[in-house]
Amino acid sequence: MTQTVTNWAGNIVFTAREVRRPRSLDELRTLVADSARVRVLGSGHSFNEIAEPGADGVLLSLDGLTGGIDVDTAARTVRVGGGVRYAELARRVHEHGLALANMASLPHISVAGSVATGTHGSGVGNGPLASSVREVEIVTADGSTVVVGRGDRRFEGAVTSLGALGVVTALTLDLEPAYEVEQHVFTELPLEGLDFEAVAGAAYSVSLFTDWGAPGFRQVWVKRRSDEPFGGFPWAEPAVEALHPVPGMPAVNCTAQFGEPGPWHERLPHFRAEFTPSSGNELQSEYLLPRAHAPRALRALDGIRRTVAPVLQICEVRTVAADRQWLSPSYGRDTVALHFTWIEDTAAVLPVVRAVEAALEPFEPRPHWGKVFETPAGAVRGRYPRIDDFTALARVLDPAGKFSNAFVRDVLGG
Ligand SMILES: Cc1cc2nc3c(=O)[nH]c(=O)nc-3n(C[C@H](O)[C@H](O)[C@H](O)COP(=O)(O)OP(=O)(O)OC[C@H]3O[C@@H](n4cnc5c(N)ncnc54)[C@H](O)[C@@H]3O)c2cc1C
Repeated sequence: MTQTVTNWAGNIVFTAREVRRPRSLDELRTLVADSARVRVLGSGHSFNEIAEPGADGVLLSLDGLTGGIDVDTAARTVRVGGGVRYAELARRVHEHGLALANMASLPHISVAGSVATGTHGSGVGNGPLASSVREVEIVTADGSTVVVGRGDRRFEGAVTSLGALGVVTALTLDLEPAYEVEQHVFTELPLEGLDFEAVAGAAYSVSLFTDWGAPGFRQVWVKRRSDEPFGGFPWAEPAVEALHPVPGMPAVNCTAQFGEPGPWHERLPHFRAEFTPSSGNELQSEYLLPRAHAPRALRALDGIRRTVAPVLQICEVRTVAADRQWLSPSYGRDTVALHFTWIEDTAAVLPVVRAVEAALEPFEPRPHWGKVFETPAGAVRGRYPRIDDFTALARVLDPAGKFSNAFVRDVLGG
């Protein structure tokens, strides 16, 4: 008898021997020690089989564990439980007059699941969300806890870990004083003559959106910190109405626009915590490549826009600062991230995913670990200079491969 669980998008059905929601850390430890195969499902917002436990495995949800968020105002840090989502975390941190450095496009996702896949927001000076992590607590194969902090030689493998080292039961994150953000939306930025570096660096966080119906961007979302200078955005006209990035979708789901100042956590995500983010009926892919290649990569995508546009809801272009996590898609490279929200039709979308990958191939793109990709595992592996160090770390922490699955084995090549 097996149990099944569907991911948020509905395109993946996980099959497990059983699905378990431990109520205490002790129950979790025993469960892990006694099981042959274990994977954790966070908020299930990934679009591929990364969380698959297999028919002989246990799929764990940490939703039943309490004691989730402890803010240390003096140290400016917060310790979060393994099941906590950003929406709740951000609210609690803000109540203490503190803030995270950045957020993804939506606050509905779990912190542990997000940093495990290298999830990011935007900003030339902002690393992925994992850059805020200073310590990670992992229940390993025998049920004991390993704590790995910054400065530990294992740390750079331990945060963006694809869930392959064990169950992350807590993370400690850096905070900073709370700040306000103003979100300005601009429309119709042409590709011709685009000064990508100037546009992407115009504010704390910048996102460009296109449906590739024409060469250029329909919208640019500029998130400016109120405590930083802002030279304006001379390349496009301000929007005259509130907009959703996906054409035709209601802007009511989106965070406040028109430069109305507001707390960081109500402006940095595009989507409001109380609504379904994005479109809901969708698949997603994303490729991260060196930012210096952005102009050429955008021209390469423009060259196939007639192939891309029919199955595309929206393409978003963001930037991510280089980081040091061995499996981070922005490892060692100041990055441009080219994201695609596709229609919800895998058969129609996959050939286009392959066309995008072929067009971007010269720029050594690293696919987002949580999204749909077709790049062969060997090619992905070759784009991570520290992958052998990660494999060695996984062998030490999980010698029998209890936390591995087909996705991870494929990527690590064994
Ligand atoms: C609408 C939408 C918008 C998105 N926007 C962005 C965006 O702006 N930027 C971006 O980079 N990505 C974005 N994503 C992708 C998303 O951030 C990633 O898929 C992320 O992994 C989701 O976190 P999750 O908790 O749902 O992870 P899951 O899909 O549940 O799990 C991902 C991986 O983490 C592991 N994991 C989860 N929790 C634990 C734990 N406690 N211990 C050990 N392993 C664990 C799982 O086993 C799995 O391997 C978006 C996705 C959606 C659906």
